[in-house]
Amino acid sequence: MTPRCTLLFAFALLAVSPAARFAPISAPARDPQIAALVARVQAARVAADDRRLVDFGTRNDFSETSSTATHGVFAARDWIAKQFRAIAATTGGRMTVAFDTFVQPKTARTPRAVTESSVIATLRGDEPGRIYVMSSHYDDCNGDCTNGTRVAPGADDNASAVSAVLEAARVMAATHFHGTIIFACFDGEELGLWGSNHFAHELAASHAPVLAVLNDDIVGETQGGGGLSEPNVIRVFSEALPLGANDTLVNEIGSENDSPSRELSRFVASLVPVYVHGFHVRQIFRADRFLRGGDQQSFQSVGFPAVRFVEAHENFTHQHQNVRVEHGVQYGDLFRYINPAYLARATQANVAALATLALGPAPPGNVEMVLSHLGYTTTLRWRRAADAVGYEIVWRNTDAPAWQYVRRVGNVLTATVDASKDDYIFGVCSIDARGLMSPAVYPKPVRKRVTHPGTSLP
Ligand SMILES: [Zn+2]
Repeated sequence: MTPRCTLLFAFALLAVSPAARFAPISAPARDPQIAALVARVQAARVAADDRRLVDFGTRNDFSETSSTATHGVFAARDWIAKQFRAIAATTGGRMTVAFDTFVQPKTARTPRAVTESSVIATLRGDEPGRIYVMSSHYDDCNGDCTNGTRVAPGADDNASAVSAVLEAARVMAATHFHGTIIFACFDGEELGLWGSNHFAHELAASHAPVLAVLNDDIVGETQGGGGLSEPNVIRVFSEALPLGANDTLVNEIGSENDSPSRELSRFVASLVPVYVHGFHVRQIFRADRFLRGGDQQSFQSVGFPAVRFVEAHENFTHQHQNVRVEHGVQYGDLFRYINPAYLARATQANVAALATLALGPAPPGNVEMVLSHLGYTTTLRWRRAADAVGYEIVWRNTDAPAWQYVRRVGNVLTATVDASKDDYIFGVCSIDARGLMSPAVYPKPVRKRVTHPGTSLP
């Protein structure tokens, strides 16, 4: 082969391998301010809060009428509110604390109507239009979720996550965020997601711009009942299809793996190892575990992106069990099974994601893929995002779970990538001046002409 032929041959090889021309995506950069927030989380503090919540004896919904100052679900509620108020007192009025109280009527599963009361702490950001939620539930359950008298420790389900939410509020309260952060401890999860459902509907009715919900439920144990233990892994569950998903988008466009909740899951999974050394997210691409549910579903049901954090391997002899020893096996959700170091890492994972969301840029709005003609490229357009100084287009093979390729396109509102829309899934992220990214937004396909001048990319 002559040198000229060799060159042509090499060029031909490159030309038939488009992926070789794409820049592979890399891990997000570590932001020092966010790393400092994450480092403030203390295992001793989350463990002490968990133990304190267990000490209320029971946090069963039906202990509400027999609650005293030191026992029962409303004693726990008042203690949680007191912790938030102490944090709020350091924020110069930026954090407020409120109860979301209502009467839940009797249902087929419950003996009577019951008063529900969630604790909501809101840390106001400096921009309207962006709300991020970190949530947990503080009610618990023994062998009978309607029994308000028997002891119900609920150390893992879900004092663990209430402790995580309190600690996140503690370490984040001094920071001025762009987005507003709601730290929520819901009542009434165990019998039907009552507290979160009530609150999510209130947010939806007031058109609150909730862009992400990180729900934590059962995040404190590392020894699974099945004999498995992965103390460096946390699971994140996300729904496949968002509210109102339509068959055309799912079947013809292939949007079944790109709900806003799932993009949030990918975003969380990319950030956690950057800020929590040696800790990883195992993404579970389903709304929740079989036969179980969680408060994230209340938010998803009104159209808000939401994911659930849960420990890697659960122990079902601990959850929803009366405290007892049977055939030599200890049952019950006891504090002794909590691993404080793990609970602290779970908290750090939330702080890393929440801080990036609320400090970083808003996501691009109205992201569209323009279907004006048959072609070999992909044209995307979007609306300007608050705090963004540029945008990234990310894409992946249609059968790949995670983003693979990236193209930084500068501060433009439309761009064309030399990759066929037929062969890849695309998303658009915002970038701010310090390099923080928003979660990716999946483009809605539109059959229109491009109306504004585009940036054509090689
Ligand atoms: Zn739970």
